[in-house]
Amino acid sequence: MKLAKFFEAKPGRSINLRKIDPDDTVGFKSKKQALAQLAENKKLLTELQYKLYAESKQSLLVVLQAMDAAGKDGVINHVMAPMNPQGCRVQGFKKPTPEERAHDFLWRVHKHAPKDGEVVIFNRSHYEDVLVVRVHDLAPKKIWSKRYGMINEFEKLLASNNTRIVKFFLHISKEEQLKRFKKRLDDPAKNWKISDSDYAERAYWDKYMDAFEDTISKCSTKHAPWYVIPANHKWFRNLAVSSILVETMRSMKMEIPEPSVDLDEIRKLADAAAEEA
Ligand code: ATP
Ligand code: MG
Repeated sequence: MKLAKFFEAKPGRSINLRKIDPDDTVGFKSKKQALAQLAENKKLLTELQYKLYAESKQSLLVVLQAMDAAGKDGVINHVMAPMNPQGCRVQGFKKPTPEERAHDFLWRVHKHAPKDGEVVIFNRSHYEDVLVVRVHDLAPKKIWSKRYGMINEFEKLLASNNTRIVKFFLHISKEEQLKRFKKRLDDPAKNWKISDSDYAERAYWDKYMDAFEDTISKCSTKHAPWYVIPANHKWFRNLAVSSILVETMRSMKMEIPEPSVDLDEIRKLADAAAEEA
């Protein structure tokens, strides 16, 4: 099954997150059943990223947004692991610094866009400026409501510069989030992940869902689609994200460049060196 088509938020249509089951695994029954495809995806991601890097004419931007504990870090681990660190990078976006706040909201983002040959993962992104900013009234509506169009234009600019953009919303349920927070509280090795705001933000869950729905509906475009990934099952989340990345990178049709040297000449040198040895 082509998971990309299945989970893509269709451009121009409004999305209702309450109707998308975070427990969905589209027919896969268990992690065991998915293991073979997970392993295959890993191998394919290694090959595809190698080609992207070698070709160095296009790039890939992966945007991750989600409620806390939905698994952004888990996805990053899973997707980055098969890739050569020389060609990929993770960029996180926290609360803007005073310097960042003194500029337009895309200023801090644009400079981290991938260069030719590179994969960049955004752990949070410019979308915070229509999510947390909207939910907590950090800017008036007349400011943030204009940003959807600005984001679409910005992403169009990146796309026209040969950057493929894929955006994932990792969709967990409110109950699953509570379970994961409890694990963080109970496991000393995970205590460091808890922050003051984690439980407090739960009071805004519905407002966040509204903000996500609007964002995904307005900003899923042909050149930069949003994917809503059921993420209550970590193994399925990884399977879906890695499958969509494989599909996306395959469609980029990267080509290993022709050698810039005359191989016949070099073979002659190699033969001579072998004779000497
Ligand atoms: P973890 O998943 O490990 O908790 P995190 O990405 O949540 O990592 P935190 O330091 O907990 O990292 O949170 C970063 C915070 O910065 C988030 O609450 C996010 O909403 C906030 N943030 C990011 N961008 C903006 C922005 N443009 N305006 C206001 N707040 C922002
Ligand atoms: Mg956090």
